[in-house]
Amino acid sequence: MSVATGAVTDALRELHTRYSGVGEGALADYIPPLTHADPGAFGLALISMDGHRYGVGEADVPFTVQSVSKPFVYALALSLLGLDEVCRWVNAEPSGEAFNAISLERGTGRPANAMVNAGAIVTTALVPDTPRAPRFGRILDCLSRFAGRRLDVDEEVYASEAATGDRNRALAYLIRSTGPLPVDPVAAVETYFRQCAVRVTALDLAAMAATLAHGGVNPLTGDRVVPEPVAAQVLAVMATCGMYDASGDWLLRVGLPAKSGVSGGLIAAGPARFGLAAYSPLLDAAGTSVRGRLAIGKLSERLGLHLMHNPALAGSTVTLVTTAAGLPAAPAGARERARRERVAVAAAQGALDFTAAERVLYALDEAGTGRTGAVVLDLVRVTDIDTVARAMLRGGLARLDADGRRTAVADPDGRLYAPGEETGAPRCFASREEAVAWCAETAVG
Ligand code: GLN
Repeated sequence: MSVATGAVTDALRELHTRYSGVGEGALADYIPPLTHADPGAFGLALISMDGHRYGVGEADVPFTVQSVSKPFVYALALSLLGLDEVCRWVNAEPSGEAFNAISLERGTGRPANAMVNAGAIVTTALVPDTPRAPRFGRILDCLSRFAGRRLDVDEEVYASEAATGDRNRALAYLIRSTGPLPVDPVAAVETYFRQCAVRVTALDLAAMAATLAHGGVNPLTGDRVVPEPVAAQVLAVMATCGMYDASGDWLLRVGLPAKSGVSGGLIAAGPARFGLAAYSPLLDAAGTSVRGRLAIGKLSERLGLHLMHNPALAGSTVTLVTTAAGLPAAPAGARERARRERVAVAAAQGALDFTAAERVLYALDEAGTGRTGAVVLDLVRVTDIDTVARAMLRGGLARLDADGRRTAVADPDGRLYAPGEETGAPRCFASREEAVAWCAETAVG
C-alpha cells in the first residue's frame, strides 16, 4: 500500500469508525423495496483528479441512484440545449422546500430548480427523445460515462416506483397544466422513475462527482463527458439547491456542492480536488443520509475544504523583483552596471491565473526604475498560463511598450507567446540572462 493510499484511506476509515454506530434516521419507505436495504450499510469513497480511487466500508454495494441522478441529467440537458434554453423551463433558485414539493413559479409554472422533483422531471423531459436515440438511452449512457462504467437499472425498484409514484405523476400533470412547456412532463415521468432506479455504488458516485469537479472530464477514463462550463453550472446549482430545504445550512457548514438521494447516496464535489460519496440508507427529515452527512461534514471541516475559505494563496507567484544590476551574475563594470540598473526584472513561477497575473503585473510596475527603462519578465519557472492570465500579461507588456519601454520575456517553453509568433512588442528569449543582455545592450547608459 502506498503512503497516499494509507493517509487517505486512514482518514476515511476513521470517519467510518466514528459514525458507523450512529443509528438515527429511517429508511425511505414510500418506494417499498428501499426498505430492504441494510440499515447498517455504510460506505465512503473518494476519487482524486488523477483518478486515484479510495473506498472504505460498503463502497462497492449497489443501490439505486435516486435523486443523485438529477445533477447529471441536468448536465446532459445543459450540454444539449445550453443554459439559456434550459433556464427558460427550469429556474435555478433555491426553493427552501422539500424534494417533492410543488415548487412552481407563479405565472410561468416553471419549477424552482433542477434538484427538486418538479425541476428534475422537466429536465428529464428536455432530453430529446428520437427513434435513433431514445431519451432513456441517452440518460443511461450519460450516467454511465460519468461513472466510468456501464450502469444498469434495478427493475424491481423501477417497477415499484412506477406503481407508487402518484405524487410525482401528479406533479407532472400540474406542471403540464400550468406551464407552456415544449415537452410532455407526463410522458417523461416514467423515464424519470427509470433514471432514479439506475444502480450505482459509492465508488461510482464518487467518480461521477469527481467528473464534475474535474471540469467534466472523467478522471478514471479521460472521457470528456460534458463541457467545462456545464460542469461549473451544475456545481453551482448543487451548491445552492442540492440539499433541498437544508441547502443553505449545508453550504454554511460544509461548503461543498452536494446532492442527496432517498436510497442513502450522497455526493459532494471539491472543485479541482476530488469527488466524494457516501452510502448509508438511514435518512434525516430532509431525506439526506445521516451518516453520510456527518462524515462528509467532518471531512470538510478537518481538511479545510469549505469553498468560501480563503483559498491558500499560492505561496509566491513572484519570486524576484529587482533591476538587472541586482542579479547575482551582474558584471561589475561601472558602465555596464549603469545600463543594467535601467533594466527592471520580475520573475514568476508556477501556474498563472487571474490572481497570479495581477501580482506579476504589479511586480513589473514596482520593478520599473523610471519611464524609460527596459523590462524583463522571466517566465522560466512558470508551469502554466491560463487564457485570462495570458491576455493580462500580453496586455501589460503591450502597455509598457506603448509607454516607450523596451520589453523582453524569458519564455523558453513558449507559454506566453507561441514559438515564432509575431509578438508585436516583447522580444522572446530562452533564458533570463539573454533577455537581460539584450535589454542592457540597448539601454541608454
Ligand atoms: N425517485 C425519488 C422520487 O422521485 C427520488 C427522490 C429523492 O431521492 N430525494 O421521489
